[in-house]
Amino acid sequence: MKQVLKEHDTGAALCRTCRKQTKTTYLYRDFSLTTPKLRVRRVLVGVCDVCQRTLTVPWQSNERIQATVRAARARTETSGRIEARVPSDLYERLRLIAARLEARDEAFAHVMLRFYLSQLSRSAKFAGRVRRLSVVREGSRASQRVSLRVSGKLYDQALKQAQAQGVTDQSALVRGLISAAYEDVFTDCSPQRRAVLECLADATN
Ligand SMILES: [Zn+2]
Repeated sequence: MKQVLKEHDTGAALCRTCRKQTKTTYLYRDFSLTTPKLRVRRVLVGVCDVCQRTLTVPWQSNERIQATVRAARARTETSGRIEARVPSDLYERLRLIAARLEARDEAFAHVMLRFYLSQLSRSAKFAGRVRRLSVVREGSRASQRVSLRVSGKLYDQALKQAQAQGVTDQSALVRGLISAAYEDVFTDCSPQRRAVLECLADATN
């Protein structure tokens, strides 16, 4: 296993400002990149003891920087947005789920819907259930808007799976997802998923 450095650990590196090998101390600094333009907060870097220039970026910090870059790229280049209109009774169900799980409703609804999209992208059986539940009752007007940003990968996989099951529009998809979540929380049909939802609710509070 690679060594994990911590704040105030020391090392040595060649400093171009001091033009010699100098001692370094590992400290937290914000790290800025130009392409893509982003800032990673509090990254552990090796700083020259003489001139305070950042000389080394240890592997653990590099991992964080790379992950931040990947996440930023995924957001800007390939993110997808699910836009749906749902009847007001489903919107109320979404709020009821959050209330039952004692979660903050807005933030939790987004995390939960992403989780259900991910379940759907992994299981044709689950996607079939979402399709059955997406059927709208006669006379219910789609008055509420639900907008959800998801990663490009999840967006592509989930929409492909949904389409394979005959769910062709995003409003139907979201109706099915909300209904499935409501069933999972208010009946005992999937204790595993219900347990995951409870964890997600705790994590978003
Ligand atoms: Zn220096």
